Formats: sequence, structure tokens, C-alpha cells
Amino acid sequence: MIPLNKDDICPEFYKEFVSKFEKKVRRYVEKGRIGKKKLRPKVKCFLEYLLSDDNLMSLLNCPANELKPHAEELCKTFDILRLRDREHLAFRQIRRIFVDNTYTTEFPKADFIRALDIKVCPYCNRSFIECIDKNDKSSPIKGQLDHFYSKERYPFLALSRFNLIPCCSDCNGVGGKFTVDADETKLINPYLLEDTNGMKFKMEITKSSFANIEECANSIKILVEETNQSGLEQNIKTFHLQEIYQSHSDVAAEIYLKGKLKMPQIYRQTIIAMLKPIISITEHDFNQLVLGIEDNPKNFKNKPLSKFKADLAKDEMVF
Ligand SMILES: [Zn+2]
Repeated sequence: MIPLNKDDICPEFYKEFVSKFEKKVRRYVEKGRIGKKKLRPKVKCFLEYLLSDDNLMSLLNCPANELKPHAEELCKTFDILRLRDREHLAFRQIRRIFVDNTYTTEFPKADFIRALDIKVCPYCNRSFIECIDKNDKSSPIKGQLDHFYSKERYPFLALSRFNLIPCCSDCNGVGGKFTVDADETKLINPYLLEDTNGMKFKMEITKSSFANIEECANSIKILVEETNQSGLEQNIKTFHLQEIYQSHSDVAAEIYLKGKLKMPQIYRQTIIAMLKPIISITEHDFNQLVLGIEDNPKNFKNKPLSKFKADLAKDEMVF
């Protein structure tokens, strides 16, 4: 689980989006209609509340740790926002305003993912989610956005930036969080993580000699554990990290065997000296370049399997 940047500074593109959405909400209120349907009085009342003071920005810019209390407070004041009214026309109008007519069609998803400066899914640290523009200028290749508190249950949180988690299709799909209620399951929002120390990968190996690397890989059991009472146990279960990472036992076998090399310091220094005419590298660069292991937690967000490899390498004394 990789922390997301919870920078208080709201990006310019998002401010522009909020301003456009505010104008749209104002039009709904002035016309008293949404499409051909008359705006329900309680919906109008909620929209008027959003347009007063700084309430709309407070909702859309609500910090991750305040999302749930803020949503509960709103549900108390505006009963149409409650899930039990899901089939109610007013609830459906709220959903149309926030989700169908705005999030689905107008939200700048690619800009949003780019602004977070993360290349790999924060839930699994396994699949790339970065945005790549195509030469033909059609929609960029990009990851998905998970609504941490689902847009089915909380449509009015569908545009709140700390409720939007860039992630891969596996984690966002039926095999991941798709049918899971973040609230009931007590999942932890990646914007609330301070570092990558809330969970740890380990390996157990049942043999000490092998016919080949494949046999070594088949002898490895991967374990994923919550550490430092981080509360990430449910995240580990929901995203099936133990099962997923078991499929990378071949990578674990490579790390295990590298650990057995007990690479002498003189070897490291020789490699560093050999490269000097071309590039000056540090010990950290050596771990990345020669051992294939990223050991700086700040870079885990951009490299698949990096947390997994770094944890195992540390235990196997590869460095
Ligand atoms: Zn993922």
C-alpha cells in the first residue's frame, strides 16, 4: 500500500473544474430543472446549500480523514442523501448531477492522475497507471479512478478529490474493491498513509538446495503482514495481496539467491569504478542498476513490485 500525495495545495485544473461545476449547479437551481424533469424541492435545497458560503469547495476539497464525518453530517441535514433513499427520485437526481452528468462525462481524469505524480497502482504496487498520450491525440492510456467511498452509496462524494484513488483495473474491478464497502470493511484510504511501513512482505522457504530456479520459486511461500498496527489488514485481504504476490515467487527466488551470493563490498566498489567513465553511481544506484532493487521508499510509487522486492531483499541481506 503506497501513500498518495495529500498536498493541501489544490491544483489549478481542479479549481477550474470546481468553478465550471459551480456554474452548472447554479444553472440547475435557476432553471429548477434537470433535463426535462423538475428539480425535486429537497435537491434544490441541497444545491442552494452548496452554492452558499464555501460549501461546495469544502465538499470537493474535503480532506481524506474528514470525508466520512462530513458525509454523515450532510446526510443528517439532507435526508435525500441517505442510501435508504437510493431509489427515490431525489437521490437519483443527485446521482445524475454528480455522477452521470459530471464525473462520467466531464471530470479531467487524466489531469487528475498526472497531478498525483504516481506511476504504479497504490493499492497493489504492481500495475502501471500512468497517463500516456497517444500520437493520434485520442484519449490517453491511463489508469482508473476508484471512488474510495462508492459513488453508488455516496454520489455527492463522486467529485471530491481525496475520495478519488488512481488505481489499476484489477484493484478497481470485481477481483478487488468493486463490491466492497470501504466503510463497512474498514479500509484505509491511501491519502491517509504516512509511509510504506504499514505492511511487510516476507517469504518462507521449505528447502535449502534446488535443481533449478523454478524449483526454488516453487518452494517459496509469500506472506503479507500488517505491521505497526497500521490497520492495513483489511486492505491486504480486499486486494488479495497474498494471493497476487504468491504469483511472483519467481521474483522472490531471484532475491533469495542473490542474498546467498553475499556480494563482497569490493565487488560493489569495482562495478562502481568500472562505470565511472560513463556515469557516476551511488550505492543506491548500484542496488537499482545491478541488483534490480529499488531501496528508496519514496520511489516505490513509480516502480512495480518495488516494496515487495525491497522488503524481501532486506530480510535476505542482499544489500
Ligand atoms: Zn492495483
